[in-house]
Amino acid sequence: GRKFCVGGNWKMNGDQKSIADICKTLSGAALDPNTEVVIGCPSIYLMYARNLLPCELGLAGQNAYKVAKGAFTGEISPAMLKDIGADWVILGHSERRAIFKESDELIAEKAEHALAEGLKVIACIGETLQEREAGKTNEVVARQMCAYAQKIKDWKNVVVAYEPVWAIGTGKTATPDQAQEVHAFLRQWLIDNISKEVSASLRIQYGGSVTAANAKELAKKPDIDGFLVGGASLKPEFVDIINARQ
Ligand code: 13P
Repeated sequence: GRKFCVGGNWKMNGDQKSIADICKTLSGAALDPNTEVVIGCPSIYLMYARNLLPCELGLAGQNAYKVAKGAFTGEISPAMLKDIGADWVILGHSERRAIFKESDELIAEKAEHALAEGLKVIACIGETLQEREAGKTNEVVARQMCAYAQKIKDWKNVVVAYEPVWAIGTGKTATPDQAQEVHAFLRQWLIDNISKEVSASLRIQYGGSVTAANAKELAKKPDIDGFLVGGASLKPEFVDIINARQ
């Protein structure tokens, strides 16, 4: 079985006070021990959050550059994330792709380097509304997966997050059937392009307006192995999303 894995992506939100509050909520809650939890925190607060979060929770950077160090003003490296106690990094988020113009290739290079440095990677993919309406969803996610597959040779430390862009921050969740359809396509893509073993073991999260109200139905789908949660991960309801399989 694939261990259910729920990530909270705080994006560029929070301050010392609100982060302390969220960490307190998570520390005081009964979290399903069968769910792996990863918190994606703004880099400037990573050390602060590490000290306040329960130690069994994973901690993720939301981005990292493709080399270990050097003259790259404003960037942080996987080695730095590891150094301060983060064990994960989120890469290829649609906001990085759309706003910061990150290419499939750059994202794959970042994933390759982060894995080589010993981080676990949440590798994001997903189609825009325009692409979905043009019937190109499968083509787009396959292209994004191909780019990762050019650089990723060992998938054991990778989780894929399928996040349809039209569902991110919009309150428009993919229906459980819509999400399952893409997850099943990805499962088959992995069989055809990587291996049966990777297809059976790789966790695929769904992301896009996940809330406590819709998480339980989504979590019942056979190919949905967790969530990557934005807005709701900043609220106490994140606990109910972590516990969606209970
Ligand atoms: P929302 O849950 O706010 O829609 O964001 C999803 C997301 O982008 C998580 O990475």
